Amino acid sequence: MTLISTLKRSLDPLHGLSDSTRQDFATWYRQAKVPQIRYVAFLTALLYLVYAIVEQQVANDQLTLRLLIHGFVVPATLLAVGIMSFYPQLYRPMLALLIASPVNATINHLYLNSHHHDFAYFSPELYLILIWIFAISGMTLRQAVFTGGTAAVLILATTLGDSLQPGLQHLHLVWTLAATSFGLLSAFMLEKVHKTMFLQQSQLALSASIDGLTGLWNRARIDQFFAEEIARAQRYGTPFSVILIDIDHFKSVNDTHGHAVGDTVLRQFAALLRRNVRAVDKVGRLGGEEFLIILPDADSEQARAAARTLQQRLEDFAFDTVQRKTASFGVAQFRDGDDLPSMLERVDRALYKAKADGRNRIEQL
Ligand code: GH3
Ligand code: MG
Ligand code: MG
Repeated sequence: MTLISTLKRSLDPLHGLSDSTRQDFATWYRQAKVPQIRYVAFLTALLYLVYAIVEQQVANDQLTLRLLIHGFVVPATLLAVGIMSFYPQLYRPMLALLIASPVNATINHLYLNSHHHDFAYFSPELYLILIWIFAISGMTLRQAVFTGGTAAVLILATTLGDSLQPGLQHLHLVWTLAATSFGLLSAFMLEKVHKTMFLQQSQLALSASIDGLTGLWNRARIDQFFAEEIARAQRYGTPFSVILIDIDHFKSVNDTHGHAVGDTVLRQFAALLRRNVRAVDKVGRLGGEEFLIILPDADSEQARAAARTLQQRLEDFAFDTVQRKTASFGVAQFRDGDDLPSMLERVDRALYKAKADGRNRIEQL
């Protein structure tokens, strides 16, 4: 890895990964963010109501407008965000409102207070809005940068002139700068941590599904695929088949050449299976030298043809040390009324028949 891409990866743990991974992250992150957006929206609406009441007692102008904005418009917008968050189909409009509400609050604030002699007492709302956008709202980094950037520009465009006057007004710039930079940093860190967590979680989920020796799907995962395929077939009536494979006289490999050579044969055998099936087929190791392939949308004829191809490739393949190895194949197609145990039992019987009839054979039941 070059220095640049190492640097980019340290800023964005998903840098250089596939679009589908980034897409998966976005979906996962959205699910994590929606509850946060909901709680924050309800809490903020409540706090604005309290603010509206207090403001009525301390402000000395535009009381009706202040009440309208802080007692109705802002809380109603936030309530709408909170309610919409319960409906996944309303995600986009909810997000639009979530982004619009702090920008709206900023504009209102600047209109009501920026040229006021009490500005210093009201201005904390601006700094809180900035922090809220970046670190509290539940927006993604990108959304927060867009929204927070807009709010910060509006604040500076309206107040910069006054703040540059010598005196205490300078402090307003410091607070604005602090709120923006702390907010930006925490939004960045938050997203980075979540990306790392997402990657670790995906890695963990994957390694829990992989057979350590061969890299094929393990027993637990292939059972899951099998169950999913059964459910699909039961529901939609689509055909699918399975092939159960057992290497012939495998014990003699271990006995003659040792366990390590046996392991190599298993790995090479697994790779051969994977190379010679369709991308949609799922290849798993059930344990020992027994393998299961699930073939979606394949009837028993197609499954037999697939097994014949594998048998042929196996015949042509030279394993390290042991050279030739054969295997026996059981084939079964899903039938109406099948469940997982009944179909496994049938394919197991087919394999047993192939063994009993002399091995290196394909049998179907
Ligand atoms: P058959 O033709 O009837 O299938 O005979 P076989 O010798 O292949 O069948 P058997 O079930 O008697 O032997 C399977 C052997 O596979 C026994 C076991 O020691 C070996 N084995 C199981 N798991 C592993 C493994 O992970 N690595 C190695 N090297 N051997 C394994
Ligand atoms: Mg065997
Ligand atoms: Mg066996």
